[in-house]
Amino acid sequence: MLPVNFRLFKKKLSENRSAFRRFLNKTEKVPPRGIDNLTPVMAREVWQEVDCLSCANCCKKMTPTFTPADLKRISRHFNQTPDEFRKQWLRKDRNNDLINKTEPCQFLNLQNNKCSIYEVRPADCAGFPHLSKRKWTDYAYIHKQNIDYCPATYKMVEKIIARTNG
Ligand code: SF4
Ligand code: SF4
Repeated sequence: MLPVNFRLFKKKLSENRSAFRRFLNKTEKVPPRGIDNLTPVMAREVWQEVDCLSCANCCKKMTPTFTPADLKRISRHFNQTPDEFRKQWLRKDRNNDLINKTEPCQFLNLQNNKCSIYEVRPADCAGFPHLSKRKWTDYAYIHKQNIDYCPATYKMVEKIIARTNG
């Protein structure tokens, strides 16, 4: 596993972003044959190549959505009520979802890129970047959002395109 080369990621993204988005738009409607079997295989390859601790860009530039269960679990960790926790750290977005007030995430340790609440982190963080969770057609739009920030998502889409001649 190699450290994420962020400069290279940005360079490749600027070269290929339009083509990757076209592929995602197309396959969201008409998925390549066998893609739902291919994605878990590609996801495993990606995780052998990408070291998230050398990146943490999702924690620096994006925010998780906090569910009521997250709120309960994380506030308990800090001996707070869910309401106290919410007022201290969270705000509502335009969809009424609870998200972080600030970025980078207040729980990211910037010295080592580790999550300081890893054991109780939001479910959204635990599942991120959702490379092969469900059917491709249900998740292509997530990749479309994440590809600008997440080198693992970029690599996943790159591999899928290569394997499906997309
Ligand atoms: S809670 Fe932890 S994993 Fe989630 S964004 Fe914050 S630092 Fe990252
Ligand atoms: S999930 Fe993506 S953005 Fe987050 S640390 Fe890993 S490679 Fe970086």
